[in-house]
Amino acid sequence: MVGAGAVGLWCACALAEAGLRVTVLERRHPGAGASWGNAGWVVPSHSVPLAHPGALWRGLRWLLDPESPLYVPLRLEGRLWSWLWQFRRFSTHAHVRRTVPLLVRLQRRSVDLYGQLAARGLEFGWQRAGSLSAFVDAREYRGFLEEVDLLRQAGVAAEVLDGPSAQGREPLLQPGLAGAVYFPEDGHLDPAALVAALAQRALQLGAEVQTGAEVRLRAEGRKVSVETPAWRAQPQLVVVAAGVWSAPLLRGVGVRLPVLPAKGYSITLDGRPGPRCPVMLTEARVAVTPLRGPDGSPRLRLAGTLELGVWESEPASRRVAAIRKAAGRYLQVEAQGGEVWAGLRPCTPDGLPVVGRPRGLDNLLVATGHGTLGISLAPATGELVAQLATGEDPEEARLLHPDRFGPR
Ligand SMILES: Cc1cc2nc3c(=O)[nH]c(=O)nc-3n(C[C@H](O)[C@H](O)[C@H](O)COP(=O)(O)OP(=O)(O)OC[C@H]3O[C@@H](n4cnc5c(N)ncnc54)[C@H](O)[C@@H]3O)c2cc1C
Repeated sequence: MVGAGAVGLWCACALAEAGLRVTVLERRHPGAGASWGNAGWVVPSHSVPLAHPGALWRGLRWLLDPESPLYVPLRLEGRLWSWLWQFRRFSTHAHVRRTVPLLVRLQRRSVDLYGQLAARGLEFGWQRAGSLSAFVDAREYRGFLEEVDLLRQAGVAAEVLDGPSAQGREPLLQPGLAGAVYFPEDGHLDPAALVAALAQRALQLGAEVQTGAEVRLRAEGRKVSVETPAWRAQPQLVVVAAGVWSAPLLRGVGVRLPVLPAKGYSITLDGRPGPRCPVMLTEARVAVTPLRGPDGSPRLRLAGTLELGVWESEPASRRVAAIRKAAGRYLQVEAQGGEVWAGLRPCTPDGLPVVGRPRGLDNLLVATGHGTLGISLAPATGELVAQLATGEDPEEARLLHPDRFGPR
């Protein structure tokens, strides 16, 4: 197992539960990547993929606004342009119709699996309080109701609220909003606590977790070998779940995946009471999560921004300021101060993760590309990986196959 983020650790637990002997290799420490300071949403309601009709035009408009939630560095880099070209191809109604039911199914399975993990007594702030998508703009709100219809057709429950009813449900909302939609099935958790709980569970199940083990892969015929600074081996199965770094790692064995980083930020404010349930500040694409500190005191997290193709994780002050400003437009909260964090989401152009065995290499399995939904999809991914590793052929995994983007 390469990578101890939420995806790698869920895979490790599922593989160990299936009776396999598992070693997790992590170059830094569990949660060193995107799985640490994210918003912690587990949301069947967020099952419309990033690639959908209108996404490109909205993206182009956002590129002209320095305070927008999107940034794409327009440099001459083949990988970025090829990704954007594929994203354009996937931004169709047909793709959305095909994808929504699959993502809803996987996220619902994850909700169940998080419930089961919490029932084992592991503490990671799991709550099923639902989520609220709030709007300041009446046109955007009306447009979103079409998305709600699609979600309802896939079985997602939704409560459509006008401005005053939204404020009745969440008194911290600013007066005068255009409206909101409440999704009662959604859950949320504290991602750093989740990573710690999963690492503990993996150890309980007999897995070994080696930190400080930077992995390189080598292809020898149809087999992949693993190299760390300390040793080299050819395991029966190598599962690569190294988040966005899976793409450069796999290139070493000839597997090319269109996975690009989408950098995002979070600001964690201690001692600040939050809303009753997570709130999406929809036009600003900022997720607001109520959390608790280790002593049980209230903690509020604001998370947002998508900087596509940016590999470094230094926070940019302009983006952080835009997130704070958005919070004040929708919520009666004080958003100054706090701890700023940035992470790289591993994004595919079709908005679906990559889970499966690339053709031509017998002992390799890949689990990456979870984009904005890695926490939401990690438990279901772990289950799929364990099924594939033990010779099953789950239907979902066929749709997530690493070779679906064409010849390597
Ligand atoms: C601001 C923000 C908010 C988000 N909010 C949500 C949310 O609310 N809900 C949701 O579902 N998703 C959310 N996401 C997305 C989610 O965080 C990611 O999809 C998810 O964390 C990806 O998990 P992962 O395990 O694949 O990768 P990572 O967590 O990045 O883990 C990869 C691990 O692999 C290790 N690694 C890399 N290369 C090597 C190597 N060569 N050898 C050994 N180890 C290696 C890294 O050190 C790292 O620990 C958010 C992301 C951001 C940035």
